[in-house]
Amino acid sequence: MSTQAQTAEVKEPVYPVPTEFAKTAHIDAAKYQEMYAQSVNDPEAFWGEHGKRLDWIKPYTQVKDVNYNFGEVSIKWFHDGTLNVAYNCIDRHLEKRGDQTAIIFEPDNPDDEAQHITYNELHDKVCRMANVLRSQGVTKGDRVILYLPMIPEAAYAMLACARIGAIHSIVFAGFSPDALANRVNDCGAKVIITADEAPRGGRVTPLKSNADAALLHCSDKVRCLVVKHTGGQTTWVDGRDVDVNALMEHAAPECPVEEVNAEDPLFILYTSGSTGKPKGVVHCSGGYLVYAAMTQELVFDYHEGDVYWCTADVGWVTGHSYIVYGPLANGATSLMFEGVPTYPDAGRFWAVCEKHKVNQFYTAPTAIRALMGKGTEFVEKYDLSSIKTLGTVGEPINPEAWNWYNDVVGKGKAPIVDTWWQTETGGHLLTPLPGATALKPGSATTPFFGVQPIVLDPTTAEVLEGATEGVLCIADSWPGQMRTVWGDHERFQDTYFSQYKGYYFSGDGCRRDEDGYYWITGRVDDVINVSGHRMGTAEVESALVAHAKVAEAAVVGYPHEIKGQGIYAYVTLMNGEEPTEELRKELEKWVRTEIGPIAKPDLIQWAPNLPKTRSGKIMRRILRKIAENDFGALGDTSTLAEPGCVDELIENRMNRG
Ligand code: ATP
Ligand code: MG
Repeated sequence: MSTQAQTAEVKEPVYPVPTEFAKTAHIDAAKYQEMYAQSVNDPEAFWGEHGKRLDWIKPYTQVKDVNYNFGEVSIKWFHDGTLNVAYNCIDRHLEKRGDQTAIIFEPDNPDDEAQHITYNELHDKVCRMANVLRSQGVTKGDRVILYLPMIPEAAYAMLACARIGAIHSIVFAGFSPDALANRVNDCGAKVIITADEAPRGGRVTPLKSNADAALLHCSDKVRCLVVKHTGGQTTWVDGRDVDVNALMEHAAPECPVEEVNAEDPLFILYTSGSTGKPKGVVHCSGGYLVYAAMTQELVFDYHEGDVYWCTADVGWVTGHSYIVYGPLANGATSLMFEGVPTYPDAGRFWAVCEKHKVNQFYTAPTAIRALMGKGTEFVEKYDLSSIKTLGTVGEPINPEAWNWYNDVVGKGKAPIVDTWWQTETGGHLLTPLPGATALKPGSATTPFFGVQPIVLDPTTAEVLEGATEGVLCIADSWPGQMRTVWGDHERFQDTYFSQYKGYYFSGDGCRRDEDGYYWITGRVDDVINVSGHRMGTAEVESALVAHAKVAEAAVVGYPHEIKGQGIYAYVTLMNGEEPTEELRKELEKWVRTEIGPIAKPDLIQWAPNLPKTRSGKIMRRILRKIAENDFGALGDTSTLAEPGCVDELIENRMNRG
């Protein structure tokens, strides 16, 4: 299989690779072509070679052992090799770059000083933390829950677990005690590591009290290790609670690494839950790290000495792969930001970029849209000339936001990598390589090495060729793929391998254009069928957001007597815009002209706030229930950032009758 994008003439290369960029890039168009072909024609040889980017204790002789057959699904990479992940992210760099900054920590409050943590310091801290964990009885294979703010201790704790072969599972600092307790119990954690408080946007979340509340529903054997961060007051349970800072101070600054198999779990991460009960996604040590490191270097075109910033939270998979594991395995300088994009004002991201001379910047469309609404003056105040590559992840980026990101932030000079991937995939699957791929705003473009996208007809499961639209599956495995659902291999097989036999089913829909570019149309569950026409909700949302008065929109289907399904649009207006009947008519007309009469929303509900996960994704399954007037069965709402907005939407819905 080949990607047609680079072989056939790209008819509308909306944004070709800047010539200067291609000259110094790791991968140019010809190289991409050559390596991609090798990666799918002979994956064993390709990954056998690229697996060597890690230091192995016992080098692998086996590269790949994968079975996608439903009922016997099993995925293994480099499975007779052994290594240590923390060694690869820290120790092996010490000789060459012990004094180089590994992590820049930018605190929530811009008046607090930033920290520069060198690889030597990182080694010291991680060893101490690892020794503290050992002193609490944590050994290889034990589970440790991290419930921490975006502070360096979060990275120390992740790497400390990796150092001793323990499995970490991070729970967003914004989650409720219930959500925390569920995860502690699901994975049978021995220890929680938390902090007194988590500041964010000038407000604090009482993490330790949340942990106290959660622990009421957990085994009384679970220990609670507490990092002192703000110094805020906490209650203390003797015999259960442990002062991490005090113990670290007295712990030995050396800690031998545990040798683990490539297939030993590195972490469990519960998915954000936009589609249902969170699943404990399991990622393992060898293949995951190879894939995270390789994509971090090539997708962002990271070079020695660059400062790289991914704005995600470590509680999201993006934070795992692209703040901690990928960059540190590459010996990079990775920026960790505790705050939010709009505090103290909408210029914070750009102030931080200027201050630390950021070279690669990676964020989510939801943040871009929020900042776009605040005006360009917040960006223009700052010198952003250090930025070389921009990235986006999390949902389809509407062309409106893409253009703003490109023009206002990147000044038209920084390629935008729109990276499509999932918690389950460990790293990027569809993405431009900035020195190789001409960009089309809104398209995640072409596959990364080793990734074979397949488009299938959703009902007949027939493989569709050429320019087409359908469900997105992947034909073969890649090293970063999840291995199982924690404690429930059956659910793993059911979710990803039962619908379309022999393929990994992503759950997303996509369109492939005549140049072989992929356009994610949203989750398959979000496709609506209006009078026999199938439509991705993303398209209608994109049209609505293109209207000058609309800040954000979420579209779902609802039962409609005549059409089968009708289009229900939740619309958030720009600051200061009035929700009038006139504007409603105007928006209906707008969508008609932008897409066509078939896409005209049947109902528009004004939504001052939309229900979102902590990673900023709209929970359409809740909006669907509200649109259907089914308020009783909203499902798991424990991962919502602001649960209150659901009641508000229900109330508005009821008032509409
Ligand atoms: P859950 O699986 O628990 O319902 P989730 O799917 O939101 O939650 P993630 O794994 O964080 O959890 O998100 C992956 C999904 O995000 C993808 O399946 C896709 O729908 C969307 N997505 C991510 N990146 C992009 C992108 N660049 N373009 C379009 N969609 C994207
Ligand atoms: Mg998902």
